[in-house]
Amino acid sequence: MSACEAAKPALIVYGPHVGTFLTVCTDNRCPVHDPRQAADRAANPVPTVDAPTEDETGEQTAARKADYDQRQAEYKADQERREATRQGEEDRRHKEYEAEQERRTKQQKKRTATFERIIQNAPPVFTAAHLRVLLRALVNMDPYTFADDLAVEMNGDDENDRRSAEEVLLTAIDGLADDKLTGFALHLALAGHRSIPKEGENDHLVEAEAAFTPKEKPAPAKSAGKKLALVKPKKATTPTATKKAAKKTTKAA
Ligand SMILES: [Zn+2]
Repeated sequence: MSACEAAKPALIVYGPHVGTFLTVCTDNRCPVHDPRQAADRAANPVPTVDAPTEDETGEQTAARKADYDQRQAEYKADQERREATRQGEEDRRHKEYEAEQERRTKQQKKRTATFERIIQNAPPVFTAAHLRVLLRALVNMDPYTFADDLAVEMNGDDENDRRSAEEVLLTAIDGLADDKLTGFALHLALAGHRSIPKEGENDHLVEAEAAFTPKEKPAPAKSAGKKLALVKPKKATTPTATKKAAKKTTKAA
């Protein structure tokens, strides 16, 4: 990256490149790094005073200055207009961003609840279908943070505890009652899949939800549909409308 006035060193604190310094631009409207800003400046150059001619009269000097003042005033007004437009756009983007954040927060809350429901309803033994989902989730686990995150989650972040994350987890397993083993296995496999998956990534929490949590019975909708179908068409309803309604209820059921 080429240098600009807003260039600052930045330290990577997470991930495989941790400890590496990068140079980043800290100006959102940097004339060097924001191409729109650069284009804007090129399209709207700051007005300059024309050079005086050699035999300029006092009148000409005054006219030249007046011309400059006028262009300067126009430039300023134009700048203010553009600034207002830009501000408006920024506000709109900010609102969009906040709405998106709120949507994600809600989604995350729901996912956390799903995760907890799956573990709480863990079956005493796994079927082949259960195991398949469990193994698929394990394959896609993040080995980089897995044991540490889980140990902190299960044991709390106790600074006086000198045991390694793995030791904490093994001790936890040794202390488990037999009927809690499947729940632990699900916790272990799904902990890293609670967060909202990136686009294109497999959603193992959704897979597990389908395999482990009892489905909502569609029975009420079905019986309602049956009832509707049993009602004799009234004189007022046209045969086509009734047919359509019947088709709809069949589909819903
Ligand atoms: Zn810059």
